[in-house]
Amino acid sequence: MPDPINTSEFALIDWIRRREDTRPAGAWARLGIGDDCAILSIGEPCEILVTTDMLMDGRHFRLERDGPDSVGYKAMGVNLSDIAAMAGIPRAAVVSVALPRNNAVKLAQGLHSGMSALAERFGVDLVGGDTNAWDGPLVINVTVLGQATARGAVRRSGARPGDIILVTGPLGGSLESGRHLRPEPRIAEALALHEAVPIHAMIDLSDGLSSDLTHILEESGDLGAILDAAAIPIHADALAMSHRDDRPALDHALHDGEDFELCLTVARDDADRLLAAPPAALRLHYVGEIVDAPGLRLRTEEGIRPLQPSGFDHFRPRG
Ligand SMILES: [Mg+2]
Repeated sequence: MPDPINTSEFALIDWIRRREDTRPAGAWARLGIGDDCAILSIGEPCEILVTTDMLMDGRHFRLERDGPDSVGYKAMGVNLSDIAAMAGIPRAAVVSVALPRNNAVKLAQGLHSGMSALAERFGVDLVGGDTNAWDGPLVINVTVLGQATARGAVRRSGARPGDIILVTGPLGGSLESGRHLRPEPRIAEALALHEAVPIHAMIDLSDGLSSDLTHILEESGDLGAILDAAAIPIHADALAMSHRDDRPALDHALHDGEDFELCLTVARDDADRLLAAPPAALRLHYVGEIVDAPGLRLRTEEGIRPLQPSGFDHFRPRG
């Protein structure tokens, strides 16, 4: 049970601090919430990964429908997913919130409970942040700091022609079952893959396979990719959605966002080995290959045709 606290910001911070203090400190935290700054001690020199994501009520979630616990979980999860995309280890997080004045404390406690569920599982210390209340809707910003392994961080820019493209799970329809609110960060999977073979390029699938793979292609020097329609793993949610909206399930798998699986490219030999014996029993699916000729294409029984990336773009005008 939450302790009874009054509605002051200091009491809220104290409540969060006491909860955080009951958890064993992670590898980096020397001083958490309570001073002007947190202190992290990273030990051996290493590359530090920094990622941040801001989620807004009405845009990325609907507080009334989804509830604060799910919002907190998602806000932490999307950041951990970005650390996974670089094959890093998450270590610490700072969180800033603009809380609707009405019920601010209860809301903050709900957010904290969602966030700490993931933070605890992945050894992430919540070391600070900022709490504000206002008359606007909920806005939450999470920043996660992590560490690249000795093998270095995996970037989007290293794909090479001839590489095989793999994904770590079935895709599409995440809105159907609320999966978009419960991202499962593929941290362990990324680390196991990185340990097993050189990963040339990797990204987490937040905007949709067609969009996110296009980022890899562009960052790797305007390469192209041929996706194999018959090989794309289609999530049961995509099938369910397809029954309702009459859009092919394959389209959902290619273009829907927020699956938070990993998409990676590796040399053909390495792909063969990984697919024959995936490390740590993780799921791996072949989806296509990287080619020289720029642009995204789809191979079907009828042949090869251009594929327009059409995932989520926050700046696209809403029609
Ligand atoms: Mg990402």
